[in-house]
Amino acid sequence: MINLVLFGPPGAGKGTQSERIVEKYGLIHLSTGDVFRANMKEETELGKLAKQYISKGELVPDEVTINMLKEEVLKHKNPKGFIFDGFPRTAKQAKALDIFMEEIGSEVSQMISLDVEKEELKKRLAKRAIDSGREDDADPEIIENRIKVYQAETAPVMEYYDKQGKWTKVDGIGEIDEITERLFEVIDKLIK
Ligand code: AMP
Repeated sequence: MINLVLFGPPGAGKGTQSERIVEKYGLIHLSTGDVFRANMKEETELGKLAKQYISKGELVPDEVTINMLKEEVLKHKNPKGFIFDGFPRTAKQAKALDIFMEEIGSEVSQMISLDVEKEELKKRLAKRAIDSGREDDADPEIIENRIKVYQAETAPVMEYYDKQGKWTKVDGIGEIDEITERLFEVIDKLIK
């Protein structure tokens, strides 16, 4: 199994690039943000809970997110591998993921982070808000908070994988196709 963590701040292009990686390598795309949004739409208990945090640009509590992620992984029988998008977002989630992957006889192969600076992120999120209809993309205050939370709680996850020798940084600026090529190059090397 090849399991990738696609990492980066909100607006870095994780979702867009995940789709392309899935298409080429046949991995299962697992976006915690997408699962939360689906639950919000269905108005499940999880959705109602998640909404309280997402609407403020805060992180959903670790316990809830980790349990949900595990359930999602276990839904797939004999997977070729996963691409985790938007998870882990805290050091606690990263540790929990390692433990869980070991339990199912696997591991995280590599964490690939998309590097994009703050002003570019704000521009992309404002643009995305028009197409996606996501409320958390439309409000500059929520965007600012999401970036702040990313810097405080999520960025340290890079160090976590770096210590394991599993961190690759990819330049997330440029044409979408160019960035895809950079990612494919990294993944091709991992597969060989
Ligand atoms: P995303 O679609 O990845 O931008 O996620 C949208 C929102 O869902 C985030 O701003 C968080 O509020 C919540 N969320 C997604 N993934 C996680 C996670 N791994 N841990 C905590 N909250 C998350």
